[in-house]
Amino acid sequence: MKRNLLSFLFPFFSLLCFTSNAQLADLILTNGKLFTANSSMPYAEAIAIKGDRIIAVGTTAAITKLAGGKTKKIDLRGRTVIPGINDAHDHIGYGTPVGKYIAFTEPMLPGPSFQQVLDSLAVAVKQVPKGTLIQGDLGLKIIEDSNARRMALDRVAPNHPVILNAPWGHGTLLNTKAMEMLDINETSPDPVGGRYERIAGTRKLSGFFSEYAEFAVKRKWYSKLPNERLVQGFKKFGDEALRMGITSVQNMATSLELDKMVSVLKEANLPLRIRVIRFPASSEKGRNLSTWSKTYASTPLLTVSGMKWILDGTPLERGAYMQTAYSDNPQTKGRLNFPLDTVKQIIKEGLASREQLLLHIVGDYTPNLVLAEMKKAADAKKWTYKRVRFEHADGLLQDQWKEAKDLGIVAVVNPSHFTFAEVNHLRVGEARVKTYQPMRSFIEAGIPVAIGSDGPNNPYLNIMFAAMHPTNPSEAVTREQAVVAYTKGSAYSEFKEKEKGMLKAGMLADLAVLSQDIFTIPLQELPRTSSLLTIVGGKIVYDAGTINNGK
Ligand SMILES: [Zn+2]
Repeated sequence: MKRNLLSFLFPFFSLLCFTSNAQLADLILTNGKLFTANSSMPYAEAIAIKGDRIIAVGTTAAITKLAGGKTKKIDLRGRTVIPGINDAHDHIGYGTPVGKYIAFTEPMLPGPSFQQVLDSLAVAVKQVPKGTLIQGDLGLKIIEDSNARRMALDRVAPNHPVILNAPWGHGTLLNTKAMEMLDINETSPDPVGGRYERIAGTRKLSGFFSEYAEFAVKRKWYSKLPNERLVQGFKKFGDEALRMGITSVQNMATSLELDKMVSVLKEANLPLRIRVIRFPASSEKGRNLSTWSKTYASTPLLTVSGMKWILDGTPLERGAYMQTAYSDNPQTKGRLNFPLDTVKQIIKEGLASREQLLLHIVGDYTPNLVLAEMKKAADAKKWTYKRVRFEHADGLLQDQWKEAKDLGIVAVVNPSHFTFAEVNHLRVGEARVKTYQPMRSFIEAGIPVAIGSDGPNNPYLNIMFAAMHPTNPSEAVTREQAVVAYTKGSAYSEFKEKEKGMLKAGMLADLAVLSQDIFTIPLQELPRTSSLLTIVGGKIVYDAGTINNGK
């Protein structure tokens, strides 16, 4: 009888033991200030992690109960913890050194004078062997100077390929050797979506390339680099990201062909989550869609998804497509990169595809046009499931917010762009700039907001920019709002809000213990913040070695 009772009870005992073991944490962090990005419990003291997931968030007393003999315990001693930063718009690869780089100390705007560039170039050509690529920056002064073109570069650097880039990514100047290196001939036709500037009255190229013409140039020269070098560059990027508490990066695959991007990332094997976003190039024959419809198996750390198109430029080079002329040049409103029919086609493809559609939209006319075409193509409800992303969304203005919300648009804002205050005021004009680059208003209007760095990727620098908004201070947000956009908002922008972006039971254990309290320190100290401990999927992937880790 006894024996029978025991055997009857045994499964229950074992179940009970199993349950309590299952709830014991592998790692607990206690006595901290945790900002959870979870509106139902914004702050907590402690967190318990098992495997790759968070199993509980709460008080130190409650979380301590989840520790067993094998649990690793970290006493945070009051330190601030946030969900891992998810950079929704970055360009991995561009940091990889290519050839000789000429740096200028001038601010990006208006940038170095052409004479300064030529002087530096004259020095550089003596330092590196013939044929070595020489790169440098160019600024607004050079873009607007029609004498600052290929032939002038050739006079100083006849035997070295030279590529000068606008640091904001819209405007590239090549000399003749660089054109030869990239198989672009004197009279090549424009690629779809891009433009080769021509010498007045001729078909000859001036060496100045815009939009899809320049994107192809950059990709070609990065693709020439050996994998080994690229892997090194990507690893450096990964190390720096983890040191700043970045645990997810949504990478605009601009620098490399998709296959090469994926193989380099696989080889680099970065211990953070990378989403590669397809960015097809174009030729004179059209947009290159074939290789980009390829799919790749996902792993917890690497996925390929989404399709990005750049529909206009930026106000800096007056390429963003505006409703009325630029304030400082009544001759132009900017322009669409593609013919209207192609934009319509892109929208239809986005609707038909399982892939998310991401559209670079900066001017204040482009969103009007796109929202109208989206409505024509399908019901708002159909679109809401698509979460179409407006990258930058600087010109998504008040009269379009309701429509944007109804269509489920996600605004991926870049606080570093808010810092071009002087040029934004000049170009957009005092009247319109008051509503330009919304952020606070998006949040209030219920438009999902994510943050992408699209520039320096220090998240705390970007949080400072979001909290200041130099172009339009009335659109500044609180630091908490910025962190929510950078974590929960960015997760939503990639359909991952059920997996990450909050410190909450059930979510992936991606988080960062910070060197200072980013919510209370003076604003200008934010950029100095770093991570002391970065955790991805429950694993400590970066440890500054400065906190008691319970060893
Ligand atoms: Zn970008």
